[in-house]
Amino acid sequence: RCAIDPKSTVTDACTSYSDLDILNHDIAPTLKDLTEADFFAYYRLNLYNKVCPFWSDENSICGNRACAVDTIDDENDIPPIWKIEELSRLEGARAQHPGPGLQKERTKQRPLQYQLGENVDESCVFEADDECDERDYCVPEDEGAASKGDYVSLLNNTEKFTGYSGPGARQVWDAIYKENCFSSPASAASPPNTGLHASAELRNIFQEHGRQNPESGHESASLDDQCIEQRAFYRIISGMHASISTHLCWEYFNQTTGEWVRNTECYKQRLHNYPERISNLYFNYALVTRAIAKLDRHLQSYTFCSGDPDQDRETKQKVHRLTSQLASLPNTFDESMLFRDPGMVDLKDDFKQRFRNVSRIMDCVGCDKCRLWGKVQTAGYGAALKVLFEFDENKNGENPHLRRTELVALINTFGRLSHSMDATRHFRELVNAIDPAN
Ligand code: FAD
Repeated sequence: RCAIDPKSTVTDACTSYSDLDILNHDIAPTLKDLTEADFFAYYRLNLYNKVCPFWSDENSICGNRACAVDTIDDENDIPPIWKIEELSRLEGARAQHPGPGLQKERTKQRPLQYQLGENVDESCVFEADDECDERDYCVPEDEGAASKGDYVSLLNNTEKFTGYSGPGARQVWDAIYKENCFSSPASAASPPNTGLHASAELRNIFQEHGRQNPESGHESASLDDQCIEQRAFYRIISGMHASISTHLCWEYFNQTTGEWVRNTECYKQRLHNYPERISNLYFNYALVTRAIAKLDRHLQSYTFCSGDPDQDRETKQKVHRLTSQLASLPNTFDESMLFRDPGMVDLKDDFKQRFRNVSRIMDCVGCDKCRLWGKVQTAGYGAALKVLFEFDENKNGENPHLRRTELVALINTFGRLSHSMDATRHFRELVNAIDPAN
């Protein structure tokens, strides 16, 4: 009853596939609506000003350029608009981050009831998103950056095929999966692992990288040897990877015909033939569902500020509809099974530092759109983990602060997962229609 994957050796999540499919069917319209509201459709991040902290700029540029040149060289016959560079480019106006001067101007332009002071909630004040909290599982977007970042429209830059591939993309995925190499499985007694330690380890990977068998997968390590926390870490990453793969197959650009298509072969090769990847997608859905349900009470007193009070009121109602529906269900994920033993503080810290490193690795992604969605989704899972392991749903004031960017990332990550589940169900039907034995 309590295992999402029948083959699972641990009961990481407490719901079945079909339960989650039904739930998704019920909530998908509200969720989609929500991701289209201004508050959730604009994400503030530092997309261009951070350097990849794990391998040298020279390597990074070489890797990524080589990847781009390879592809572009092969693409001379297609219109420039469909070149990989173009597909990877961000679209739509990018609003600059309002500095203090501009913030003041905007405050003046707002309707009276919306200005600071009377009737204005504290959370309408522009947030300092760069405050780091030791309870964070993700590096805040502004950490160490000279500029405060830009707002990017997520609606104008949907997650789909960009053509980003080759050694550059492979290097990033390898680095992400290497973060799952905890020093000692299941060891509450393992020595504390600081972020610095993990980063140094990651820098060393790229000496190993060249020696690695390029065909070797990330799934070969025996999951049975892993503790439940390590296994959960792996499943989150693999589930995120599965969701990204689903979206690039769902909106795939056929470079021969010049058309955007549903690419069933792409789905078969990346997902259908690997049921455990699909299982990890559902695992992530169960995990994020539980995190959002847990925020039900917290979000009742949250003020949504997009600059349009009518829209903000509607957004709040929709958020409430979603969270209360999720909160009324039996738990989809039992976070109390992880880090159970009070002596597991070091393991929890290691887990947190490793997840922060995954978020830092996103600055090494050599394609703008992929980096954007990679950052949104790692921030979304980071927020979910923070809520699951650091929040007490029965307390109000003592919980860690949830930044606007974290909330926006969390809801959009949920939106991505919801869409991936729907897309894989569709793909499954297409595969069955072609070959019922499959
Ligand atoms: P990859 O997807 O690169 O996978 C590498 C290896 O990882 C595989 O050979 C397999 O062994 C293993 N693997 C694959 N999937 C899983 C899984 N779910 N669980 C465990 N192991 C797995 N491309 C786009 O077109 N659009 C995007 O929006 C996009 N976003 C990206 C975001 C990030 C953060 C990154 C790193 C890459 C992104 N890419 C995107 C590139 C895309 O993910 C692939 O890397 C690319 O399509 C090449 O695919 P591949 O067949 O070489 O295998």
